[in-house]
Amino acid sequence: MFQMTPKSSISSQLPKLSRAGEQLKSMVQLPGPFAELPRHPILYNHFSPIHPLPSLSTPSQRPKQAGINIYAKREDHGAPLACAGNKYRKLEYIVPDILSPTPTYHYHEHHPTTEKLNGPATILVTEGAIQSNHTVQVAALAHTLGLKALVLLSRGTGGGLLASHDQDAFVSSGNVQINRMLGAEVRVLEEGDPISNDANPVLEELRTREERPYWIPGGASLHALGGLGYARAAFEIETQERELNLKGSGQFDYIFVACGSGSTLGGLIAGFKLGEPAITTRQIIGVLNSPTKPRSYHEARVLTFARRAAELIGFDGKNRLESEHAIITDDVRLEDRFVGTGYGILDAETKEAMEVMANSEGIILDPVYTGKVARAMMQWVREHEIQQFARQRELDEVNVLFIHTGGQAALGAYADVI
Ligand SMILES: *Cc1c(COP(=O)(O)O)cnc(C)c1O
Repeated sequence: MFQMTPKSSISSQLPKLSRAGEQLKSMVQLPGPFAELPRHPILYNHFSPIHPLPSLSTPSQRPKQAGINIYAKREDHGAPLACAGNKYRKLEYIVPDILSPTPTYHYHEHHPTTEKLNGPATILVTEGAIQSNHTVQVAALAHTLGLKALVLLSRGTGGGLLASHDQDAFVSSGNVQINRMLGAEVRVLEEGDPISNDANPVLEELRTREERPYWIPGGASLHALGGLGYARAAFEIETQERELNLKGSGQFDYIFVACGSGSTLGGLIAGFKLGEPAITTRQIIGVLNSPTKPRSYHEARVLTFARRAAELIGFDGKNRLESEHAIITDDVRLEDRFVGTGYGILDAETKEAMEVMANSEGIILDPVYTGKVARAMMQWVREHEIQQFARQRELDEVNVLFIHTGGQAALGAYADVI
């Protein structure tokens, strides 16, 4: 006769999944002041994975050449919400202010004197290029917080739209479609629309509708708390590299990451500075993807974001900034050779890098950011600097980390060029 197995014996037969143990493995140890900053979890409660990219890696061929071990950190697999990407990580530190009864950083950057909200936000407002990934992440987040979302998409930003053979499709597919599915109010701004420079009229309109709008700048980088998420990610990466038992130096010697609005890179720089001994040889390379502004513009911004994050996570102001943890211009390394002809324009070489990644590793990149990062990284691997780095430090192996920041949903709008 069939006998029900008592519950207790079923559970005792289950593999011993030590929840606590797993949690512990995925814990980031943050230093005091940083650990105390409020954070609202959006990402999974485990780390975004880091895995090897075997086809792109090259074995050691001593004495001439060091082996190059390439890994990817999958920020595109970091969160359960739609189109996971790097913006969710930044938003984790912004949500507490959004939900606060007295938000502090809700205003538009041109209007820092905007009056108080008199209560928690009711609607998130943000902006981006037509195929912005950031706006999608804000829209998806809004509903999980019980808030509305209004998204401003500018036709004039970058060149992706102009380069498209089917402009109607470009403004209705990919991330635009997803924004709509997520229930955001989408407003497409014509080129030269004054609102693309100053969204305050939209915020005023919402205020007269009895809403309490919370403005999140494009990419969340100009937000006062925008750099914290990636400062935390630096500690996550340090924990992961210890668990991975990397060869050579035991750490990721080179990290390649996209630099768009700049706080992903700025936050990483601040986090690594705080977490590491005075002299670190780790190279963090920010890959630019737009020729619109010169490199010096991005350098200054990234430095500002890194220092702003640094102050918040526990560098005690000026003294510390002058010490061994000081963040200096040399810490901001930007690669600007692969910006191509415009933001959001997919050039032949970037497309090729995307094809290499897809065909050799089965990984899909995005046409705006990570495609250009992969192209840059492949070029660096071919050039001398990484080998020179290995020779100077007598390493037979160099470890390289490629950060996949997401963005694949834009591909739908690039169907005519890919
Ligand atoms: C926004 C974005 C970036 C750039 O990050 P910033 O912090 O703006 O520099 C890189 N990759 C993807 C896919 C993005 O959506």
